[in-house]
Amino acid sequence: MTRQNRSVTLDELYRDLHSHPELSFEEIRTAAIAAAELRAAGFDVLEGIGTTGVVGVLRNGNGPTVLLRADMDALPVLEETGLPYASTTSGVMHACGHDVHVACLIGASRELAATRADWSGTVVAVFQPAEEVGRGAQAMLDDGLYERVPMPDVVLGQHVGPAPAGMVGAHPGAAFASADSIDITVRGRGGHGSRPETTIDAIVIASAIVGRLQTIVSREIAPQETAVLTVGRMNAGTKNNIIPDSAELGLTIRSYHEKVRGHILAAIERMVRAESAASGAPDPAIVPAESFPVTVNDSVATERTMAAFRSAFGEEAVLDPGQVSGSEDVGLLATAANAPLVYWILGGAHPETYFTAANAGTIERDIPSNHSAHFAPEMQPTLIRGVAALVIATREWLRS
Ligand code: ZN
Ligand code: ZN
Repeated sequence: MTRQNRSVTLDELYRDLHSHPELSFEEIRTAAIAAAELRAAGFDVLEGIGTTGVVGVLRNGNGPTVLLRADMDALPVLEETGLPYASTTSGVMHACGHDVHVACLIGASRELAATRADWSGTVVAVFQPAEEVGRGAQAMLDDGLYERVPMPDVVLGQHVGPAPAGMVGAHPGAAFASADSIDITVRGRGGHGSRPETTIDAIVIASAIVGRLQTIVSREIAPQETAVLTVGRMNAGTKNNIIPDSAELGLTIRSYHEKVRGHILAAIERMVRAESAASGAPDPAIVPAESFPVTVNDSVATERTMAAFRSAFGEEAVLDPGQVSGSEDVGLLATAANAPLVYWILGGAHPETYFTAANAGTIERDIPSNHSAHFAPEMQPTLIRGVAALVIATREWLRS
């Protein structure tokens, strides 16, 4: 790598990361930058955890262990922001702002290392691959993350989003929805369209399944709960006079309670198998594709952290964003350590544009959301606030 000796500013670092996005599990350049920055700050560095994951450990005397997590991956999106530092890789873009997360965690690591005389404990900085496909956190755990670094007493992290830049805030309890993606192959017996008696019609079975699945949320989940089950894909057949021997369904499921999630997943399996059995068909294949658990913020730890934010940033800069329908895998790092999670939203939208849109009731139209080809966080004060939030939250847990 040809990285300058002088320490790059956070703005330079961010622009560089933004213009060089990398897809899930391919974050090689990003990981190398994170590792070099951690080393320069004085952290012990482990690389290649869960494919491209990087972890920096700063041991600084007795005290709690605080884990800070940033995800590194970009998305297969063609960037349309028109920014001077837009993606140089066609069709790949930091459309979810994980470049903000990486830059802020590097900034916080630098600051925590530089101020180590003021605190004691251990800081673990985790740069995680592949959040977008819901597999990166699990990959790091499967690769022995907690055998190689100290088990954390608290897991902290942030996600940039379409709230005004300068604002931060976390929702206590279930904060991000679970998301499960399931691929189903219904099996039948193919044959001539004129001779249904020789076949087991996979299209008829799949159709019955689609109808039957609608009863899970409407008839089996309490009305006080929130859940979504969508069949977003249905593929079968090649020609009008051929009964195909299989049909495929693609499902996505969202909910805010593990109990609800478990019920829905079990009900899907029950119905798909029963509808196949009802037609005398072979067993269907039910394959989980992507899977994110509910992201649950520990209420006590969240209130403690938000109180620290309020006294540092002022009451008006700290918001409760409510439940977010998006999903995250950061919770796995906390669950595996049996540690509380505090995961907050970091505002990244241009404040004036945001408030003008809010007053006009046009936020949905005027403020690009994560995953949009136009998603372009205001570089400042987003980065400064993101670094400060990580440092303040960390110092709240470390011994001073
Ligand atoms: Zn995303
Ligand atoms: Zn994201």
